[in-house]
Amino acid sequence: MAILKDIEPGKGGRRRFALHSPATLDKVGELEVATAEEVTAAVGRARAAQPAWAALSFKERGRYLRRALDILRRRREEFLEVVMGETGKVRMEALTMEIFASLDFLNYWAKRAGKILAERKQRTHLFGPTKQLRIVYRPLGVVAIITPWNGPFVLSLNPTAQALMAGNAVVLKPSEITPYSGKLVGDLFAEAGLPQGLVEVVAGDGSTGAALAEADVDKVSFTGSVATGRRVAEACARRLVPCTLELGGNDPLIVCHDADLERAATGAVFGSLLNAGQVCCSAERVYVVDTVADEFTEKVAAKVRVLRQSPDGRADIGAIIRPEQLAIIERHVADALSKGAEILVGGRRNPDLEGLFFEPTVMTGLTPEMSMMREETFGPIIAIVRVKDEEEALRLANDSDYGLNSSVWTENTRRGLDLARRIEAGSTCINDCAVTYGVTEAPFGGVKNSGLGQMNGASGLRGYCHALPIVRDRLAAAGAAGSYPYDEKKEKGLLRVIKVLWGTPLGRWMA
Ligand code: NAD
Repeated sequence: MAILKDIEPGKGGRRRFALHSPATLDKVGELEVATAEEVTAAVGRARAAQPAWAALSFKERGRYLRRALDILRRRREEFLEVVMGETGKVRMEALTMEIFASLDFLNYWAKRAGKILAERKQRTHLFGPTKQLRIVYRPLGVVAIITPWNGPFVLSLNPTAQALMAGNAVVLKPSEITPYSGKLVGDLFAEAGLPQGLVEVVAGDGSTGAALAEADVDKVSFTGSVATGRRVAEACARRLVPCTLELGGNDPLIVCHDADLERAATGAVFGSLLNAGQVCCSAERVYVVDTVADEFTEKVAAKVRVLRQSPDGRADIGAIIRPEQLAIIERHVADALSKGAEILVGGRRNPDLEGLFFEPTVMTGLTPEMSMMREETFGPIIAIVRVKDEEEALRLANDSDYGLNSSVWTENTRRGLDLARRIEAGSTCINDCAVTYGVTEAPFGGVKNSGLGQMNGASGLRGYCHALPIVRDRLAAAGAAGSYPYDEKKEKGLLRVIKVLWGTPLGRWMA
């Protein structure tokens, strides 16, 4: 949920909060904040459970994930209810973003992790058959996973599934705004029969997350804001453990002069409004080339005017998940208006609904100094900027401290690829948007302030392992240049090798 209210402390003086739905304002639960001692104990249990898990084959680990998949598919209505209750998401988006995507992640990693992480032999370029290289993907041990509130189930489940398939134990700290969706991940794997301690879920707020990042873990996989990401990186730097940071964005969407405008308008509406705009990789800045700007804007406005909001989740645009976010959205809109922007549709908190609903909004006339163009708004706003041409669009798109996702809309593939290659973002799409995280093969992560490292894809999965090279010498090394004692003969031999290898075209080709 969304709206946290302080209530009297729990057992042992633990801090407690009441949780209220952002859509209906009904109370949906309570959160008791785990202490640093409880975090340490959870990490200890995870560490004890990990070696036996790592000893299982990929096939055996995959069997547990498949069981989890079956349970999630069967019990999806209960899961939907929890996620919708906490977040105020509309049903279709809870179903696609949280359930559909999670089923796919579970199946994908269960089926493919074994192949991606299989021990492999590699020929060495210099030593040929004399030395054999093997790469072993060894689990790291205990992985801390700290997650946000906007995709609270899927963003907790996906890294957990990857860390588990790689042979690790997990301690998960879901957002205090959506603790029950995070708890579902622990419940799901427990019901799937995972050994006790292998997936520990600690409920709590920033203090709990900080305690986890400082605990005896071997990696932190963090998804959340830039400010917290920096703190997590500092904690990991002190302990010299790796982290991946999946952080915020202010993603550009470029509409070229030759775009299919119907398609581009549909994409801009969906890409900006999905999850009420509370998606890390949603479009926040829409740059449209002047010659098509009027027609594009009209199409967008017409599509947005018919969108519905309601507290029961049977509508198009859901709630803003927490009051602080609503305040940011309102501040950004007010700032843009005060600097000359205009509202074509929406532009205010929905006056007909009690919950935290902001109307789906179309704005024009935005300029680079406005907060909406520089900071993450995370709201249901399509912010349209008219530009002279594609080059100006690209320059403005790249003028950002963020670099998470982006998209280009054009009927010319060559132009699309050219712009996509030059855009300063961790990922990009042509004639599509906000999909990259759901394309599991694609490594996903930000550049600039949007993050460090990547999630998903083969490299994301391998990030939950240490790639251990084992070099085996297959010939006796006696007499080789690297063995003592050194003498003139060995030096001359080495110089001859240098001459042959890098002093002749054939040598260079062979090396
Ligand atoms: P947040 O940084 O406030 O919180 C994220 C998590 O960190 C929560 O569980 C929180 O309790 C915990 N936390 C807070 N202080 C901590 C500390 N000092 N040490 C360790 N953990 C701490 O972020 P949020 O508001 O929950 O999430 C919204 C942000 O997440 C947005 O910026 C959004 O763009 C970003 N996000 C990024 C991605 C991505 O893949 N790049 C995906 C989803 C959301």
